[in-house]
Amino acid sequence: MKKIRLATIWLDGCSGCHMSILDMDEKLIEIAEYVDVVYSPYVDTKEFPSDVDLTIVEGALSTDHDIKMIKKIRANSKYILGLGDCAITGNISAMKNLFGSEAVLQRSYGELADTNASGVYPSKIVPKLLDKVLPLHEVIKVDYFLPGCPTPSDAIYAMLRSLIEGKEINISDYTRFGK
Ligand code: SF4
Repeated sequence: MKKIRLATIWLDGCSGCHMSILDMDEKLIEIAEYVDVVYSPYVDTKEFPSDVDLTIVEGALSTDHDIKMIKKIRANSKYILGLGDCAITGNISAMKNLFGSEAVLQRSYGELADTNASGVYPSKIVPKLLDKVLPLHEVIKVDYFLPGCPTPSDAIYAMLRSLIEGKEINISDYTRFGK
């Protein structure tokens, strides 16, 4: 049986949507029969692989690294599912758009920091913040959207099951549920 190559990633998200994936509980065993998790916070792979069938993306785009990563994901994924409101609209991640990244950094590392009175904040090695937090679809084509904050685990299960059954990922040699 050829399994669906599944990746998951969280970018600028709180990990709550990934916790919802885990909340599928025993249904995860059912899903695991049909997918290979080739990249995810749940596994130890360091580099995003090629030839991924479906990538589930939680979180918005907040840094130059996020932009690089989402373009790499798009180039190597047949389908992308935006999971949760941060990926779809920016949601909580985009609240700093009200003030701008510079103001948020200054407030965090300057005004509110006891030990960093000079207001110096990280600018090397750590990814550079974008001026504006972006939802995924402003940078790449997104194939599916599953909203919620977090997305309910039942909805994630229903979506995955539908995709695996071949309603959308129509790859004939994948074994389907119930067969
Ligand atoms: Fe967290 Fe809600 Fe964003 Fe999901 S949509 S990553 S639960 S803040």
